[in-house]
Amino acid sequence: MGSATRSKVFDVQPFRHLYVHVPFCRHKCGYCDFNAYAGMDRLMPDYVDALELELVFARERYPFQQLETVYFGGGTPSLLPPTLAARLLAFIRGTFNVAPDAEVTLEANPASTDEAKIASWLDGGVNRLSLGVQGFDPKALAVLERRTDASQATRAFALARAMGVRNISIDLIYAVPYQSKATWLDTLGRAVALDPDHVSTYCLSFEEGTLLYRRRAEGRVPEVDADLQWDQLDAACVELAAAGFRRYEVSNWARAGFESRHNQAYWRCRPVYGAGAGAHSYATDGATAWRWWNVARPREYIAAAPTTKADGEELEPRKAAAESLMLGLRTTDGMVAPSGFDGELVKLERAGLIQRVSGRVSPTRRGLDLHNQIALAVL
Ligand code: SF4
Repeated sequence: MGSATRSKVFDVQPFRHLYVHVPFCRHKCGYCDFNAYAGMDRLMPDYVDALELELVFARERYPFQQLETVYFGGGTPSLLPPTLAARLLAFIRGTFNVAPDAEVTLEANPASTDEAKIASWLDGGVNRLSLGVQGFDPKALAVLERRTDASQATRAFALARAMGVRNISIDLIYAVPYQSKATWLDTLGRAVALDPDHVSTYCLSFEEGTLLYRRRAEGRVPEVDADLQWDQLDAACVELAAAGFRRYEVSNWARAGFESRHNQAYWRCRPVYGAGAGAHSYATDGATAWRWWNVARPREYIAAAPTTKADGEELEPRKAAAESLMLGLRTTDGMVAPSGFDGELVKLERAGLIQRVSGRVSPTRRGLDLHNQIALAVL
């Protein structure tokens, strides 16, 4: 951002949502293109120091109000030793005004979730766990190179519940090579049997630069049949609806009242401050928006703190409105459409991708399934 942009950013709406990135992982999974690193655990104490420096700097530089959500994502936040996790949670509570009923989520890998850690998370105010289960089928887990198995996932879930975590989400992945409709149905059934409050189902994507992408290019991993992929998505819709979950976003299902408040902030284009290596922030004055991101590599992030920003961009009002429409149409409830998109909306309605009900636009089931077509039309 140029200097004109820098001065304008002070006029933005206050942040009520905080994302904290923890980039450490035990092992880099073959499909993963997140900002995540294996073999860097020794950097954790310095990394938490740097996070604290960045957060103090951010609080002085930008307007923050009472935080409604805090989200620890990764990477694998559950890898932080309990003492460091407790320190970071206490620091955030001491530095920001966290609402008494704030949603505080931590992403946890079942393999690194134990009693001492759950106790430290609960003490620090975490009230929602997002468990990276990904699946229960050993063959699919092997393709994904997940080093957790079904029994670890089940044990971590039961332990968290027994210790009093009332809001637990499970992540699952479909369209995985070798995963049949039957094994996916079995995975869905085992996930539902745990009685989670929220389920995210992600379609596996082969991202350039990942090991899985290379293995597919070399013919060592088969293509996934497109019809099977749609069948699997359809099976998720049927099974999760039958179990009492509502699909409230393209990839997310929840029991009533357990929709992720933090992720809804993204889909509604609310200002979110992102702290940590590679984290993105989004700010708006209601018309123009700004997005910026931190340096990605943990060592460089630590060296840069507290001025951790790598780069950013300004979204002029039309582009910001297009993004908000595209994101709002990820959610089943949709939104009041911003003005200036009548032509696009008519086309999307004719294509059966959206509907208009009492002044709002929302995606149809087809629009949820084919959201990329909505994005292409709107952006
Ligand atoms: S645990 Fe998650 S963030 Fe870490 S490498 Fe695997 S997929 Fe990526």
